[in-house]
Amino acid sequence: MEDEEKLLVRLAGYVVHTMHQIPQLSQLPVNELQKIPLGRLRRDATRLHAVCRYQKGVKKSEISGPTDVRCVDVHPVSLTDDWQRYAAFLLYHEFLHALGFTGHDKAFRNLESLWPDLEAKKMGSSFGNHLRKRAAKWLWICPQCSKEHPRTRRGKGRYRCRECQIVLVDVKVEANGPKG
Ligand SMILES: [Zn+2]
Ligand SMILES: [Zn+2]
Repeated sequence: MEDEEKLLVRLAGYVVHTMHQIPQLSQLPVNELQKIPLGRLRRDATRLHAVCRYQKGVKKSEISGPTDVRCVDVHPVSLTDDWQRYAAFLLYHEFLHALGFTGHDKAFRNLESLWPDLEAKKMGSSFGNHLRKRAAKWLWICPQCSKEHPRTRRGKGRYRCRECQIVLVDVKVEANGPKG
């Protein structure tokens, strides 16, 4: 299997290549994005999917381009086969931050929407669920409809199924081998 670091470099290359084909980005220093060090978030992170970290001492309002970026980190789980399209979109998102679009304002969202893989853009919420499921130690299960709610804590009979109004029961998740 290709190691994560090599895969990350290859994905970043693909993302930069794709960005070169987006006319709205043609005036920006897209080539310089290749120089940004790439890293990985902690494997057990559940909230953050990726991040663009700026050089120390540089204010967000002063970010002018990739040279102000210390590194871009992505979640290692996004590098597994099922999620690589989403990882490419994450890199695209962070690279836009690296180009000086530091907020999530309208201009940023307009550029973000130019990513050609429309499916990948929609994978964020299912990836979030996937991470929570990996981290879950307990499932709160509805005895009637069998819907499962992965959680790190016990529910202790305090919650009901939204549809059935039945009290959810706790089931401990068995450790099932190494988690990708
Ligand atoms: Zn962002
Ligand atoms: Zn139910």
